[in-house]
This record gives sequence, C-alpha cells and structure tokens, in this order.
Amino acid sequence: MKTSKHSELVNLVNGLDNKRYHILKEAIEKRDSVKFVARLLNNNHKDVNCPHCKSDKLQKWGIRNDMQRYKCKECRRTFNVLTGTPLAKLRKKGRWLSYAECLKNGLTIREAAAKCGVHKNTSFRWRHRFLENSTEIKPDKLSGIVEVNEKVFAWSDKGSKKLNRNARKRGFKSHAQIPVNNRVFTLYCRDRSKNSYDKILSGFSADVLQNEICGLITNDTLFCSKNKQVYMKYTKQSKIRHGVLDISKREIVKRDVVHIQNVRLYIRKLEIWMERFHGVATKYLNNYLSWFRELDEFDYKISPETIMLRAMRPDRYNTNHYR
Ligand SMILES: [Zn+2]
Repeated sequence: MKTSKHSELVNLVNGLDNKRYHILKEAIEKRDSVKFVARLLNNNHKDVNCPHCKSDKLQKWGIRNDMQRYKCKECRRTFNVLTGTPLAKLRKKGRWLSYAECLKNGLTIREAAAKCGVHKNTSFRWRHRFLENSTEIKPDKLSGIVEVNEKVFAWSDKGSKKLNRNARKRGFKSHAQIPVNNRVFTLYCRDRSKNSYDKILSGFSADVLQNEICGLITNDTLFCSKNKQVYMKYTKQSKIRHGVLDISKREIVKRDVVHIQNVRLYIRKLEIWMERFHGVATKYLNNYLSWFRELDEFDYKISPETIMLRAMRPDRYNTNHYR
C-alpha cells in the first residue's frame, strides 16, 4: 500500500466514532483468530499424507478458507489437513480455541455456547467432534501395580425424543437401586504411574473382563481389587497375581502396597466432575469418560491448542510434547 493510501486509512480509522471503531475492531479480531487457528492447524502438519490413499507424494493446491489445500499425485484427489478428521467441515474456526478452553474448564453445552457465541446445537456438535478422538487415546497396557475398581451407571436416554421407559422423577441414590437390566458397568484401572484406563463393559463377569480388557493387564502385574467374585475368577483364569482386599472386613491397605485408593479417588473425582451435566446419555458416556481421562492425564493443565490438535490427529498428539 502506498504511503498516501496508508495514511488515508489511518485517518479513516482515527475518524471513526466509538460504535464503528468497535465494529471494525471486532471484525479484525475475528479475522485474526481464524487465521491464527488455521495457521496452527496447517503448521502442525508438515509431514502430511493423503487421507484417501496415504501417499506422501503431494503438491500444494492453493489456499481455501485459510487452509492449505493439497493435491495427491497418486489418487489426484484434493484435501486439507482436516479432511478425514472429526474436525472436518466444522465452521467458525476462529472460535475453536475458545471452545477447547471451555472443554478444559468442563463447561456445559449452554455455558460453552454462550462463551463462544455459537448456537447450543453447534456447541453440542462441537463437543462430541472434539471428543471423538479422545476415546482412542488410552494406554493399551498397564504395568506394575494396577488398581482396579468398577462403577455402575443407570442406562440413560437423555436427549432422545423417544423414551423407552417412563420418565424418572429423580436419580438413583445407590447402584443397588438401579434395575439389573438398566445397569451400565464401567471399569477403571490405574497404575502407580498414574496411567488410567476406563472401559464400558458389556456386563460384569470374569469372561467379559477376559474378552474386553484382553492384553491390558499382563501376568507380571499385581492386580489390586476388592474380593469380588468377578475379579477373583478373572485373575485366576488369566493367571494374574491378585492383591485382594476383603470388603467385608473393610480392608483398605494390605502389606503396604495392596490398595485401591488411587483408582477410588479417580472415580470419585469423575463423579464430582460429572455432576454438572446432570446425567449423560449412555450413548455419549464413553466421550465423557475420555474427556475426564484427558483432563486427569494433563493434571487439568491441558492447553486449548493441545485439545484442538488431539481432536484432529490423535496419533500425532498423544505425547507429552504438546503440554
Ligand atoms: Zn491420494
């Protein structure tokens, strides 16, 4: 821009009344933040591959909506780094980081919508897209001393237009009150290096554990749990050393090392954290468990950038590097 045009623009801005100045300022900030987010997304993918055929023979193919496009030399298709990720085709990129901040702070759908200036349906859609990959980021093996405990949720159709049962007036006070065929069993395992694993089980039996947490706990591990039949049978079948706590005797610690205090604390924190949502639909429960696990993994200090980048590509961002 020529100097005369430059000073003309500056004079124009200086001559704006407050109302117009703020409209302009808001527009610039918005544009800047879209660019900022797009830059973060583009720059973190230097070793990008074609999402369609995995080829790395690519050529740059212009920029659209601030995102670098590529054309694959093998399959001739074009894409950007969001193609094929849960964040593909989501709009309003400029607000993604503030949305990630809302996830970090555990805001409800409505609170996050208000904070980011988006509709509550958008807030809902974003939440589950952002969390989609978190469900995959968990350890596939735990070692050393592993504390194990379970928690039962009541099946919930929250948010569904059609209820297959009569509406409940209030929640259940204890697990025992939940009708047997409405129980959703979740399992939590935590080793002493604070690696946590959770899983929604299809039932609660030794065979289910054997099938559904296969390979997670190896036989050089000390499996610590209450003396429930399910755990007794599972550890025996799988030939895993078992540190047993007798619940009838209210046993808390045995031989200084056998206890489940850490996993119990983890579950208690999860329960407290989940209270704000006033119950979650069972079909989304895994997302919530993973959301909490991610917060715990980073000791509640995860950055919005990390949340966003992990939502995009879990294989690249599951290390401590981006903390
Ligand atoms: Zn390709």
